[in-house]
Amino acid sequence: MCGIIGYTGHQSVQPLLIDGLRTLEYRGYDSSGISILSRGKLKTWKAAGKLDSLVGQLPAKPSSGSTGIGHTRWATHGAPTDENAHPHTNNDGAIAVVHNGIIENADALKQSLAPHNIAFASDTDTEVLAHLIALAPGNTLTERVRHTLLKVNGTYGLAVVDANEPGVVVVARNGSPVIIGHGDNEMFVASDMSALARHTREVSHLEDGEMAKLTTKGCEISAIDDRLLHRTGQRSTIIPEEISQQYDRGGYEHYLYREITDQSETVRRTLGGRIDRRFNTAHLGGLNLDARELINLGRIRILGCGSAYYAGGAGADMIESLARIPCSAEPAAEFRYRNPVIERDTLYIVVSQSGETFDTLAATREIKRKGGRVLGIVNGVGSTIAREVDGGIYMHAGPEMSVASTKAYTSMLTCFALLALHLARIRDLSPQRGGALIDALDALPDLIEGALATEEKVITIAEQYHRVNSLFFIGRASACATAHEGAQKLKEISYIHAESYPASELKHGPLALISPETPTVVILPDDDLFEKSFASLAEIKARQGPAIVVTQSTDDRLNTTADAVINVPASDPLLHPIIMGIPLQLFAYHCARLLKRDIDQPRNLAKSVTVE
Ligand code: GLU
Repeated sequence: MCGIIGYTGHQSVQPLLIDGLRTLEYRGYDSSGISILSRGKLKTWKAAGKLDSLVGQLPAKPSSGSTGIGHTRWATHGAPTDENAHPHTNNDGAIAVVHNGIIENADALKQSLAPHNIAFASDTDTEVLAHLIALAPGNTLTERVRHTLLKVNGTYGLAVVDANEPGVVVVARNGSPVIIGHGDNEMFVASDMSALARHTREVSHLEDGEMAKLTTKGCEISAIDDRLLHRTGQRSTIIPEEISQQYDRGGYEHYLYREITDQSETVRRTLGGRIDRRFNTAHLGGLNLDARELINLGRIRILGCGSAYYAGGAGADMIESLARIPCSAEPAAEFRYRNPVIERDTLYIVVSQSGETFDTLAATREIKRKGGRVLGIVNGVGSTIAREVDGGIYMHAGPEMSVASTKAYTSMLTCFALLALHLARIRDLSPQRGGALIDALDALPDLIEGALATEEKVITIAEQYHRVNSLFFIGRASACATAHEGAQKLKEISYIHAESYPASELKHGPLALISPETPTVVILPDDDLFEKSFASLAEIKARQGPAIVVTQSTDDRLNTTADAVINVPASDPLLHPIIMGIPLQLFAYHCARLLKRDIDQPRNLAKSVTVE
């Protein structure tokens, strides 16, 4: 989602900003722009569409200037047009602002500017900031930005430059990430560590309510409410190795495909060092909870958004069935807004690939404010959620570049399987059963390879069904979360309408829509509910609905009843959701490819949703 890059130093800033925006492209965006301070003047270029539209507008010989800011926008207020792209400037063009987030009182602030006869050039909530900063009292840009932000309600990651203060970039944070990169007589800022990694390893995270002045000499961090903190130096940290690793499509046409096919390796990394054969349990060093605290848990609640929420659903099932602790999952924003009771013996687990998901972070803070204990299952090392939770499990899946989650999803599930085993062994799971699960986890990367080997079959099915208008995905009990995630993946990248249901719910309504034109993907694990799930399949076929089955079972009836059967490797039922999800990722990918969709950056979507 929306990205910020900024620089002040001695290098030519134009290529540096464009290069930074390229590294942010993976987050999904609809327009982009840059402003450069050059010889006391501010020059701004911006364009709707892909970054190449912006690059096409730039002078062939880079504009001189070594201070500037850039942005990739994900529209919240106003259509994705050239005018609404950031940076936004005041009327004389001296101030330029890039902003991630939402200014909630933008309309009231605009009205307060009525006496100044300002000509607004965009429909955005952001533009008002540029005019307010230009008119604010104060001798320095920092003072004027501070004065303005004290009037603002809402969320922001912000970078501002002023033609009258060459060499200065002022940044501020409230709710959207802002990371400052320390260089040698140069300073960087970005909304994402990956955009800084190629320039510097030393970074400072701005916290909510803080701002900073960047110059070639360093940065001066202060609280927006005017208590000077001067936290330069001692607060900086090193960008984790995982983030600085260069990552490309590896010769594949899409990051998504690489990420799907990399999953045996990424799951191997998630498992790395966490299998404890001595006690037949999982070793999870970062939980910061000892066995005595864990044995007293009365309940676990899991919170996430999108695929992380569906992973939470599968995780809840793993924990409850194996460790016998009541466990449920809920969308993070819904949880926060229904003013939930925070129970003393409940453990809250938040799940986020980036560790920056706004709704999940807000839920984390709400629980902590009310005295609850929160663990994180996070991929983004050093991210805001990772820094704010009481403990957790890193996924170690490596950077995920495609907007739609695949390898992070399987790593989330793998973290849950490890956690379920750890909790179960503290409670009443025998060492023998623990040992069998350790063997199963050890075999997981190979089982994933086996699930990936269904690709040829999946391609045939995608060729047959990619033109349908709508599909159902159903699964019973532990297969339900897999059905939800399968439908989610198909919607995200192929834009085919898909609905997911618990298999038992089909007959309570959606069965009315089953017809020869509406296929159903039936997740049919080979477990003790097989016959029940088979009955759902039979009900679909009785209404002439085409049925695609994903299963470990070799039951002959499947081949005569279903229209297509995808056989995945057999495993311990704990791991079914991980293995059965893989052909569904491949199905979504191949439907999207046949439909020629923008697979890595699907329309309207963004990676790491950092606005509400
Ligand atoms: N709310 C601003 C806009 O719509 C910022 C969006 C973003 O975070 O990219 O322009």
